[in-house]
Amino acid sequence: MDFSKQKPEALINAQHPCACGKTHSTTLQYLKVGPGAVRYLKEAMDRLSVARPFIVCDRHTYAAAWRYVEPVLKADAIPYTLHTLPMDHPEPDEHTMGELVMAFDPACDVVIALGSGVINDCCKLLAHAVSKPGMVICTAPSMDGYASNSSSMIRARVKVSLYNDCPAAILADTQILMDAPERMLQAGFGDMIAKYVSVCEWRISHLVVGEYYCENIAGLVRASLKKVVDVAPGLAQRDPAAVEATVEGLILSGIAMSFAQISRPASGLEHYFSHLWEMMALDRGQLSDLHGIQVGVGTFLTLRLLNHMRTIVPDRAGALAFVESFSNAEWEEQTRAICGKAAETIITQEHTQYHKNDAALHAKRLDRIIAGWPTILGIIEEELPDADALEKLGKRIGMPTTPAELNLSREDVYNAFLASRDIRDKYLTSSLLWDLGLLYEVPVQ
Ligand SMILES: [Zn+2]
Ligand SMILES: [Zn+2]
Repeated sequence: MDFSKQKPEALINAQHPCACGKTHSTTLQYLKVGPGAVRYLKEAMDRLSVARPFIVCDRHTYAAAWRYVEPVLKADAIPYTLHTLPMDHPEPDEHTMGELVMAFDPACDVVIALGSGVINDCCKLLAHAVSKPGMVICTAPSMDGYASNSSSMIRARVKVSLYNDCPAAILADTQILMDAPERMLQAGFGDMIAKYVSVCEWRISHLVVGEYYCENIAGLVRASLKKVVDVAPGLAQRDPAAVEATVEGLILSGIAMSFAQISRPASGLEHYFSHLWEMMALDRGQLSDLHGIQVGVGTFLTLRLLNHMRTIVPDRAGALAFVESFSNAEWEEQTRAICGKAAETIITQEHTQYHKNDAALHAKRLDRIIAGWPTILGIIEEELPDADALEKLGKRIGMPTTPAELNLSREDVYNAFLASRDIRDKYLTSSLLWDLGLLYEVPVQ
């Protein structure tokens, strides 16, 4: 089955044996996208054999969506418990999770997230913790985590990804989504254009470090990205067809992550810019911008770096000399200065698990990079869009495209770039540049 040619409904409720050697599936069982989708709540609940939802919202999503949900609950005589988070900006942390566990009604047999990013992340975790299925009624096409099997959380003031289950049912009602704040529409576009980078880096990583790669899943991501980019101009006018295609693309991208069981198909260096900026904000006690807005800006930075790659001629002697003179003590100092509270974990991970700064391992990667350089340039050529045209499109829908528009200093951008290769064991554009001995040489913005 060619995933890229399927409607989302054909991808769920099935096992897909694949040429990559894996059998792909998702725990998502019910999906309804379109105007009036929320009216299918009872049908979705019947499909999951559940009767009484614990519904979680915050004040903003209550104001945006409750007037659509409550009549459906009444009409279908669905008993429920509603919990409105009291914080103005709930964070995906111990405090919110504690609040949810304390409020959870054990008479309920399903958790429904009425929201988007944070509420969806927390409810996935709550459903997992209380061993109930999870559902989501989407309130904004702002990120691609609806159908993914991980939650982006903050633990002990450090950002972590926790893997659990993808929600069992998703209702994406375009009547609700159309009225989402403008910035959340832009954020959804930002989270999608990241896929140009993530698919490109996934292929490069497959070549250089032999990471698992599935062309069928990559094709699904490319198709969902195309769907979103094609309709993007309509987002500025809240065109219902554009909003519907955007949320569908975002859900498909989440399904791709569920299929791969890793975030790789949908997240690359641009997401690490965002992770680092969020970590910096956490350390400083500041609020971060929306995930998709930061990721959008990170995408434009990464596209320029990947374009710069075309001008590089790998220099084996130079790269080996760079790693020979690389000081682990200085690297640790740099990590502590940039990553704050998360630094010690990152340093320990490098020394006990990743060993990416190890000279012998570097030499092996460098061999593969030099032998595969024409292929790497070919991948960049095939996967990358015209960055200027894409930026023009971003500006047309009013999204920020530069770090300055998010009040990020040049230092924060550069530091995020330097530390991006350190926070997970993921081979990124910055990892490739380190291997080439050019991490500190390239223009980042
Ligand atoms: Zn596959
Ligand atoms: Zn994302």
